[in-house]
Amino acid sequence: MNKKKKRNKRAGKPVRKYEHHRYRKRQRSTSIYFLLWAAFSVLSLIIVLLFGLAQYSALTETYKRETVRELSEKGKRIEMAWEAPLPDAFKGDRSAYLQFLSVTYDVHAVVLDANGKVLFPVAPSGEETLEDKESYLKKIDVLKSELEKTSLGAVVYEGDNEYVYGVEVSLYGETGVYLYISKSLQLMNATAKSLGVRIILIAVFVLVLAFAVSSAVSGWLARPIAEITKKARLLAQGDFHVDFNGSDYGEEMVALADSLNFARDELSKADRMQKELIANVSHDFKTPLTMIKAYASMIMEISGDIPEKRNKHAQVIVDEADRLSSLVGDVLDLSKIRSGITAFEKRTFDVSAYLYEILSRFEYLKEMQEYTFETEIEDGLYTCADKGKIGQVLYNLIGNAVNYTGEDKKIYVQLKRIEENVFRFSVTDTGEGIKPEELPDIWDRYYRSREVHKRPVKGTGLGLSIVKTVLQIHGFVFGVESKEGEGSTFYVDFPLVEENIP
Ligand code: ADP
Repeated sequence: MNKKKKRNKRAGKPVRKYEHHRYRKRQRSTSIYFLLWAAFSVLSLIIVLLFGLAQYSALTETYKRETVRELSEKGKRIEMAWEAPLPDAFKGDRSAYLQFLSVTYDVHAVVLDANGKVLFPVAPSGEETLEDKESYLKKIDVLKSELEKTSLGAVVYEGDNEYVYGVEVSLYGETGVYLYISKSLQLMNATAKSLGVRIILIAVFVLVLAFAVSSAVSGWLARPIAEITKKARLLAQGDFHVDFNGSDYGEEMVALADSLNFARDELSKADRMQKELIANVSHDFKTPLTMIKAYASMIMEISGDIPEKRNKHAQVIVDEADRLSSLVGDVLDLSKIRSGITAFEKRTFDVSAYLYEILSRFEYLKEMQEYTFETEIEDGLYTCADKGKIGQVLYNLIGNAVNYTGEDKKIYVQLKRIEENVFRFSVTDTGEGIKPEELPDIWDRYYRSREVHKRPVKGTGLGLSIVKTVLQIHGFVFGVESKEGEGSTFYVDFPLVEENIP
């Protein structure tokens, strides 16, 4: 063995590996916590920014409009004052007068020549600063070009960080002199800046608030989800005692909890019934098997040479084997129909004739066990369905009536039109009936009432489940009416169709 391994290794054969992954964890997706936080934050930020932007534009718009209005008013007054004779109080000092006007109207007013040289007010040193010179050089060009555009005489426009009122005035009877009145935009810019700072502060505050609110809300939202997930895992592991509760968390959680509770009930019912079926089926399997074994031994040891006895014993073996095979057949049938393996082949057939055929299968009960079948069958009722499956339905329902009918061993079978396009099959027995609380359950897989019946027809607890599945797939109406102590009537309504004439 070892040698062989070594040889393989030497030959350089690849070593085959097999790894089994029973459970691969799904990639972690983003948590509710983060999503909520992000959504809250983005939303709040957008609101703050929009609000800030609206504030900013409203502020600047109003400020500018007001400034323009005020400046043109003040400009006109200063212009008029300038053009008027110099008041005596200023003793011929035009510079002082212009400064007085500037202070009075809270603006900055200068008189420039065509080259941007400041004529008034004269600088205290008598010389303009270099800075002034350069800036007015530019300003006078802008003013002149603005004046060229209009025929009104005076202009108001937005200059470099200021609003300007400009007009050509006369000085000592000469033209080419300009009155340049400006109002700085510094105040507005400062206000806008402080507004910006405030908006940033509010945004930071909002982010912090969004974080706090989202963590509270997501915690509140995530808690029931985490709880339900934990319980769902327990349920998946087969603990049917878990109780899903969403009542503290709003409508959607209540609906989710209700659905999960419903799923739990259904699962636990299926689980319980499956266990019962295993118990029932194994019991049902065991009885015929024991019989088969016993009779086979009897043939071997006792009756082998006596043909009469041997045949009788062999017949028991055949009957028991039949029972076994019909049991296996039922289990297989149901699982095939349920899993959709069996295809339904619909065609039009004569239900009346078919019912006679099915009833004939119960002939042996009439002869050997004195059962009476009272029938009322209307002839020539056709429907379109899967004939074989419908046969199974009728056989199961009649078989149940035989099994559960009373001491009088009577069974009533009817097939007749109840509406223009509908005819009803019904089978009535005179047995104990079904308890009202059991009525909804009898159609479930594996359900068998706890009482033990003498069963002339073999039952597996699957009969009505097959009936229900087949009829539901066909979309036919069916049901049961039962009175305790008086018996039960099972019925199926078939749509009536015309006979197909080929
Ligand atoms: P089973 O093989 O036990 O008859 P079914 O699925 O055919 O299985 O029926 C399920 C259960 O419904 C039965 O165990 C019985 O309790 C009840 N039941 C069915 N038919 C009748 C009937 N005609 N009268 C009384 N009980 C019935």
